[in-house]
Amino acid sequence: MSKRDLQHWIKVGQQMTAERSKKIKIAKTRKFDTVAVHGLYDLQTALESNGGSIMEPTYLSTAQAYENSAEMEAGLSYQMPNWCYSRIANPSNFFLEETTALLETYGTDIEASCCATASGMSAIKTATDPFLVIDDKLGPMNFVASAKVYGGSFQQFWIRRREEQGIEVRWVKNPTDLNEWASLIDENTRFVYGEFPSNPTVDIFDIEKVADLAHENGIPLIIDATCASPALTRPLEFGADIVVQSATKVMATNGTTIVGLMTARKNIVSKVGSDEMKADFAIWAKLWPYRDNGPGLHPMGAILTLNDMRTLRSRMAQMSETAMTVSKWLEKHPKVDRVFYPGLESYHAHDLAKKYMKLVDSDKNAYGFMLLVEIKEENDDDSVNARKFYDGLEMTWRATDLGRVKTVATLNAISTHQQQGEEGRALASLKPNAIRIAVGMENVEDIIADFEKALDAI
Ligand SMILES: *Cc1c(COP(=O)(O)O)cnc(C)c1O
Repeated sequence: MSKRDLQHWIKVGQQMTAERSKKIKIAKTRKFDTVAVHGLYDLQTALESNGGSIMEPTYLSTAQAYENSAEMEAGLSYQMPNWCYSRIANPSNFFLEETTALLETYGTDIEASCCATASGMSAIKTATDPFLVIDDKLGPMNFVASAKVYGGSFQQFWIRRREEQGIEVRWVKNPTDLNEWASLIDENTRFVYGEFPSNPTVDIFDIEKVADLAHENGIPLIIDATCASPALTRPLEFGADIVVQSATKVMATNGTTIVGLMTARKNIVSKVGSDEMKADFAIWAKLWPYRDNGPGLHPMGAILTLNDMRTLRSRMAQMSETAMTVSKWLEKHPKVDRVFYPGLESYHAHDLAKKYMKLVDSDKNAYGFMLLVEIKEENDDDSVNARKFYDGLEMTWRATDLGRVKTVATLNAISTHQQQGEEGRALASLKPNAIRIAVGMENVEDIIADFEKALDAI
């Protein structure tokens, strides 16, 4: 067969796919850290196609060239793996996506694919858009979501979806209450959505039970697991269909990149969409709506994220230990009203946290880097002391950010949750004296010393 023949390139494509499956199989036998470090990029790939570089390719290139028209035809009809144009795919993004799919399905035989996007918000949009399509056979659509979600997600659902598109959003006010989830789902519900744990109130829910509820109703469960990361909680393992990450946070921990990751298991259930969509949601999304809508991630962002992800597990271990120590210390402090951290005995769903939050490849629980602290005030709606504490921080960064190697504190009512108004903040159970703390990789003694000084300033 000649290289001028379409069939030749289709055959090359089949060999590439078989080779890739072999590499995935090998990666599946390895431990989490090893997968995070190597993914699918090995010596053979480096020597054959990347000049021997020990780093994955970073081609700052908009497009790929083809040897001839037959290769182009095979590539653009998706009959041969290729990257074509960086709005659709790029080698750096490919390695990030493959590593993520492996980490999100780690320790299981679940098959999944991943689609990297330009932000966590666009990952959420890419994950939810395909279910919010017009279908004349169905009634007016709604979706059911935990009210304990990131401020940006609240805005995307409440303003963009509801106000601008007229899609009904049904909030679950208490996500640990299964009856509430169940009572809101009906035949017009397109998907169920939750955050685990939620930002900033660190709320959780029973993933398995909510997944069962969704599936009994023929709809998928979508989970944003940004604040757990696959090093602690892998929702697909517990029955979720799609998991999104704002990889901007702890995955790309050094704070250089805004990036989203959407990973979906194969063969999901849905009331709408084609068989092709349900068979491999993330790849389908990438080849069609993502291509047409253009939320693609820049390859530089992909490579920076991949680099940071290599040490995800050890950072999550260290950060979780630090957050636990800090939470216990704050909880005992006389100027502190309450501390929310899933690892504390006082946490309202501690048993659920124990079930779902474990450091991968260990038998130890680990509860993540994020906690919420409410400072004692004279009156219930005050933030006087909270602001004194906040403004007194010297080492800790005052910023709307989290998951960094550097400790960051956020006064949420005036920042991430400012636009939601009183009603939205009440729905999120976010008080004006609440401060979100995302511990970093500093020595815990220095973090506590900084907090102690700031609390003394009250
Ligand atoms: C930050 C965040 C997002 C949004 O991600 P971006 O990368 O900032 O777009 C979504 N969900 C959670 C839980 C987040 O913390």
